[in-house]
Amino acid sequence: MIRRICIFCASNTGNDPAFAQAARSLGRALAEKSIGLVYGGGNIGLMGILADAAMHMGGHVTGVIPQALVDKELAHQGITELRIVTSMHERKALMAELSDAFIALPGGYGTLEEFCEVLTWAQLGLHEKPFGLLNISGFYDFFLQFLDHIVASSLLRPQHRSLVLDAVEIEELLSKMHSWRPCPTGKWISPQEI
Ligand code: AMP
Repeated sequence: MIRRICIFCASNTGNDPAFAQAARSLGRALAEKSIGLVYGGGNIGLMGILADAAMHMGGHVTGVIPQALVDKELAHQGITELRIVTSMHERKALMAELSDAFIALPGGYGTLEEFCEVLTWAQLGLHEKPFGLLNISGFYDFFLQFLDHIVASSLLRPQHRSLVLDAVEIEELLSKMHSWRPCPTGKWISPQEI
């Protein structure tokens, strides 16, 4: 049951209008489906657009933001709930704890770092929550190819490659995430491998 989804996305808007459009559509879609939004709590870039859209449609939005970013006036003051934490590490842990699933929109280092950590935790068996990339305008095509390259290099198991769901459309991605089942092979590190 997916009640809250954590969305990772850029603190900028990028140069393709499709990115902002996707952030808006995703915010609306979550609100319409009564799925709570958990995100980085910012008021800028795709993050701000996403949160505004969900709030506009009467959605429930939880922002999780470190005090340092609040001090820089980057916190969104118009969302349902703003959780202020002391560090980026605490923020990621709380965002993950509050959410039943994760989606990434286009983004930079912050976005990649956040979703790669969630995937690392998943392959270690620390959680069993689905993760999806919303591949707007083919933004993640190279990244998906790179994942296949890592598998071809025997540095990533195919079953862990399949932890990354992707779709161009929101509905398709949500449907893949709803029907996703955790990897049956269990933990990456088995006692025999240590
Ligand atoms: P990036 O993809 O590098 O723009 O980073 C965006 C991601 O990192 C978001 O999902 C946020 O959780 C976090 N983040 C980075 N910069 C900020 C900011 N100025 N305010 C709030 N969150 C941020």
